[in-house]
Amino acid sequence: MMVVMKEGASEAEVQHVIDRLEKAGLGAHISRGEFKTVIGVIGSREDISKVPLEAVAGVENVIPIQKPYKFVSREFQSEDTVIEVKGSKIGGDTFAVIAGPCSIETEEQMTEAAEKAKAAGATFLRGGAFKPRTSPYSFQGLGEAGLKMLAAAGKKTGLPIVTELLDVRDVEVVAEHADVIQIGTRNMQNFILLLEAGSTGKPIVLKRGFGATVDELLMAAEYVVKGGSRQIILCERGIRTFEKATRNTLDLSMIPIAKSLSHLPVIVDPSHATGKSSLVEPMSLAALAAGADGIMVEVHPNPEEAWCDGPQSLDLKAFAGLMEKIKPIAAVLGKKV
Ligand code: PEP
Ligand code: MN
Repeated sequence: MMVVMKEGASEAEVQHVIDRLEKAGLGAHISRGEFKTVIGVIGSREDISKVPLEAVAGVENVIPIQKPYKFVSREFQSEDTVIEVKGSKIGGDTFAVIAGPCSIETEEQMTEAAEKAKAAGATFLRGGAFKPRTSPYSFQGLGEAGLKMLAAAGKKTGLPIVTELLDVRDVEVVAEHADVIQIGTRNMQNFILLLEAGSTGKPIVLKRGFGATVDELLMAAEYVVKGGSRQIILCERGIRTFEKATRNTLDLSMIPIAKSLSHLPVIVDPSHATGKSSLVEPMSLAALAAGADGIMVEVHPNPEEAWCDGPQSLDLKAFAGLMEKIKPIAAVLGKKV
């Protein structure tokens, strides 16, 4: 951290800042310019954060130098994190495909989606049992009964299952069934939920908040680490902009940005990003080309009848078609599906 003193700050004011730093066990490196004095602070992130200096007399600006996250950063770990669940991988040279319906509806729907998605090449099965709906009058998910249907479909196909944890009260029941726990966009900064999800030790798909920066996403991931899990998959699912042609705006540039700042795998959800099934294939291929480690796609045996997010869901034939396009492009890029 650097403390920039105001032009004309008195010697006593500079000394007061130094005293405060030294009292907290921090080092101070003073550099006196023609107009301004700058104090470089030496110490750990935690110790520095305990000394507020913005409101101290004579201080103009406090500039952080270290990133506000540590364990998820590339500096902390240079190799890519690779996550493996029941034989399916995310990260490294593997392009993961998480497919399944927005919400779990019936045993037949889940089984058909799971079997056909697996046959087409999906490597993980998704399905929501606790749904974060904008309207309280919309279908809220089947809860535990749905988790059981998802788990049964996962067992039948051998696909590891991914499902959303919406509330700290459900952490046990979700952890009991899920192989991978999803934290949705609306909860990216629900810090208690992040800690609780991390405490399960399970892999966590952390979706980017629709109004969150990449730095904020990485700080949310740092909370999951603090909770107890280092197996985190970052998921870009679109952010809110002025554009109305799509449900959200897919920020593809965050893929290389997040991958340069962090060792964690980055996947893309083109379904929630666009809200339109016709855009899912082009955006999936674009995500692959941009270096994503996988996609999460909503797939439904009959999107017309889906209880949730039908317009953005691929039917099973369209999903199989997407997989046929992904495979050769992934091969050219040196990735396995
Ligand atoms: C979902 O994946 O089902 C979901 C609700 O996604 P998001 O949190 O990105 O809206
Ligand atoms: Mn959905």
